[in-house]
Amino acid sequence: MIEAVGAAASLSALAFSLRFHWWRPARRGVPILMYHQVGPHRTGSALNKWRVPGHAFRRQVEWLARKGYRGISLRGLLEGERPGPEKPVVITFDDGFDGVRTVGLPILREHGFLATVFVVAGRLGGIDDWNDERPGERLVDADGIRELAAGGLEIGSHGMNHRNLIGLDEESLALETAGSRRVLEEVAGAPVRSFCYPFGGFDDRAAEAVRGAGYRAATVIRSGLGDPAGDLYRLRRIPVRGTDPFLDFALALTRGRSKF
Ligand SMILES: [Zn+2]
Repeated sequence: MIEAVGAAASLSALAFSLRFHWWRPARRGVPILMYHQVGPHRTGSALNKWRVPGHAFRRQVEWLARKGYRGISLRGLLEGERPGPEKPVVITFDDGFDGVRTVGLPILREHGFLATVFVVAGRLGGIDDWNDERPGERLVDADGIRELAAGGLEIGSHGMNHRNLIGLDEESLALETAGSRRVLEEVAGAPVRSFCYPFGGFDDRAAEAVRGAGYRAATVIRSGLGDPAGDLYRLRRIPVRGTDPFLDFALALTRGRSKF
């Protein structure tokens, strides 16, 4: 009986360790967190994994600060910014949801954290019409972008129309990369040098188009630590899901990966 209980206990411990990958060694690189919306869940919505409620976001930022991390932008990472004695963690938000401005920004500022917001240049003040759910979530408008930039956040591009870059004709590829950069630089009044592939879609041609359009880095949707000494047009990130328990966040961050 006692043996059976012991076996059950060690089995569940094994399942726990497999789930969280804590048996994997820590690897080289800097964690780059991938967020989307900061805001409340919707009943029964499949998109809730990309919505981190404000209270959960606050808990994560407070945990990071307590653990000696300091949130920086992707630009900060590439420029070798070292936030004093603190460990850098790059914070990124895809899609440019307005909740990042209204809910996320005040929490970041309380802790002196910076971040990068990847905005869809052709949807300023619109909704996330590339998702099926209606009503859509509100996206930042031009004033919102200026507010984020004034708060020290980096504005990056997430394309002009949130199109997957793979297989686009030359003209569309130029519009999504160089075109979106021009629009956002005009609005933000600051250089736009970071790109995030919509739907995580990239290949060699897309990466070359992004580089050729004047960006110096691009992020993908693949789990892992970002290596500033590696390929800057394929920077991996750690997805932060609004439906995961807090423990997943802490373990994924320290191990540079998360479960899929
Ligand atoms: Zn997106």
